[in-house]
Amino acid sequence: MKGIGGWLRNLATRFLAWFQRFMQGRYGGDKLNIALVWVSFGAFLISLFIPFKWVKLALILIYYSVLGVVIFRSLSRNTYKRYQENRKFLRIIERIRDREHKHFDCPRCRQPVRVPRGKGKIAITCPKCKEKFTRKS
Ligand SMILES: [Zn+2]
Repeated sequence: MKGIGGWLRNLATRFLAWFQRFMQGRYGGDKLNIALVWVSFGAFLISLFIPFKWVKLALILIYYSVLGVVIFRSLSRNTYKRYQENRKFLRIIERIRDREHKHFDCPRCRQPVRVPRGKGKIAITCPKCKEKFTRKS
C-alpha cells in the first residue's frame, strides 16, 4: 500500500513540475478569467432550463466560446496584452461599484475622470491635458 502511495506522490510531483514548466512565460489566471468562467458556467446552467431549442444552442455556444477564451488567455504568452485586458475589466467593475461618482473619459486624451454624482451639469477640466468639457453628473 505504501508503495502505491509513494508512486502516486511521485507522479503528482512530476506532473506539478511539468505543469510549472509548461506554464512558464504564460499568463495564467486573473480576475477577468475567473469572471469569464462564471459567465460560461452561468450560460451552461441557464441552458439546462431553457426549453427553446435555438436559445439553448446559443447558450451552449456561449459556454464553449467563453471557456475557449479563458483557456486561450491562460496559455497566452502575450502577458502584457492579457494584463491590460484584466486592468480594463477591473476598471469597469470599479465604475459599476462606485455609486458616489460618475466616470467619464476625456474626449481628447481618453484620460478617465471621476466626478461626484448628482451635481447637475458641470464643467470638467481634464487633469492631464486641461481640456474642458461639460457633462451631466
Ligand atoms: Zn484629457
